[in-house]
Amino acid sequence: MNIPRKPVNRPCDFRPLSVDEVCAIENCSPPLLSLNNRVVWLSDNGPEFGYIKWLGKLPNVGNDWMAGVYFDNPVGSGTGVYQDYQLFEAPLNHASLVPVIGLLKAEDLLSNDEIDHKPSLSSPSSPTIKSSSSIILNNSSSSNDLALENMKCLCGKGKGIQGHNNSCYLDATLFAMFSRVTIFESLLYRPQNFQDISEYSEVQRVLKEEIVKQLRIDLYVSAERVMHLRTLLEKLSSVRGLTSEEKDPEEFLNLLLNQILKAEPYLKLSSGLESYFYQLFVEKDEKLVLPTVQQLFDQSFLASDFKLREIPPCLLLQMPRFGRQFKMYPRIIPSLYLDITDVLDNSPRQCSICGQLAEYECKECFGQFGDGLDSTAFCQKCMDKSHSHRKRFKHKTARLAVPPEFSMLKEHTQIQRIYMELFAVLCIETSHYVCFVKCGNGPDAPWCFFDSMADRKGIRIYHHSY
Ligand code: ZN
Ligand code: ZN
Repeated sequence: MNIPRKPVNRPCDFRPLSVDEVCAIENCSPPLLSLNNRVVWLSDNGPEFGYIKWLGKLPNVGNDWMAGVYFDNPVGSGTGVYQDYQLFEAPLNHASLVPVIGLLKAEDLLSNDEIDHKPSLSSPSSPTIKSSSSIILNNSSSSNDLALENMKCLCGKGKGIQGHNNSCYLDATLFAMFSRVTIFESLLYRPQNFQDISEYSEVQRVLKEEIVKQLRIDLYVSAERVMHLRTLLEKLSSVRGLTSEEKDPEEFLNLLLNQILKAEPYLKLSSGLESYFYQLFVEKDEKLVLPTVQQLFDQSFLASDFKLREIPPCLLLQMPRFGRQFKMYPRIIPSLYLDITDVLDNSPRQCSICGQLAEYECKECFGQFGDGLDSTAFCQKCMDKSHSHRKRFKHKTARLAVPPEFSMLKEHTQIQRIYMELFAVLCIETSHYVCFVKCGNGPDAPWCFFDSMADRKGIRIYHHSY
């Protein structure tokens, strides 16, 4: 999937435009899906099937292609009417407008088993063990066939990590961290030292031998093994209920990475703070109906006073969400690649107007000469010119630190943009966690959906670079 980072200005912001109109006006190609395609929408309650009956763009929904879907089940909210426009016809509650990026062709939804949609949250008094299951979402690419084949081995019921007694927060986090990527590998191999707690080696052994190795070799980790880890964590933590109650992945990761394994923090901020996560803090933007992670990431850094001192080996982002219930946006599009160029301290940036090496930053110019944070960087010449304008001469601007070796070579070096690649998405709605993990490389790689029990929800995202 290709997410355009720079949406072009649309000529009409007031009425829906059909796919043909958009293509004619913007001179662009149509989306990969077409009218009457059989599609699947991964709703909060499981996959829902339907047919595309309208395609185009809507006012106030950014530049994303939207599809009007006639669903088999009554999961929609209308009859195909958008504002005053009848886009297509469907019986009441069978119609919905969804972003094309969130739809899959029905034939691309590969599953070894029927997916279990039953609500699965067992009450504390019923210790029934639900089997785990995972499915593959295929973005249809030939270069990732091998990754797909490998991943298929891990798919179906009784594969992955078995859920039990509210363990989904832990199962989904461990699956995201260890099933496909090796960036967390050093956690499994650092020898114990005198500063470590006495149980350090035991926790590390259980994590490595009983969970990660089982997951990679046997493709299955039983709930007993996960319980072994939970029992150890409970013993070492001041947090109660780690063996029986639903917790947040942050609580688990903080305990594991910070308190027990004492891993090096992944994020080093210019304020001097170090951290394992970055919580996105944004004000609700009513114009953003369906934000991307990149948009929220840019807004969050725009509002903050710090930057990243270095490229993080792994970027764990928490979406704007507070407590169990409050989510700022009901849906967020995960950006498959996150451009972090403009949040790095001491790293060369490009002038948003002429593309030369930037020497100044003006946060008040955000969005004026582009969309994202890159629109805040200027070279000396463009800075002077744009800020001599009456509208801008009062702007507070700041000089950027440019590495001296780069200033000397600026005529001969291209300014590289720095991207991080999304490898997993951990989601929740009310109280059940699941995850999506990328298997393979590049934007066309297939994704695996993992659920240690059933159901799925909300959003929280992990990034890392290769
Ligand atoms: Zn310039
Ligand atoms: Zn400005």
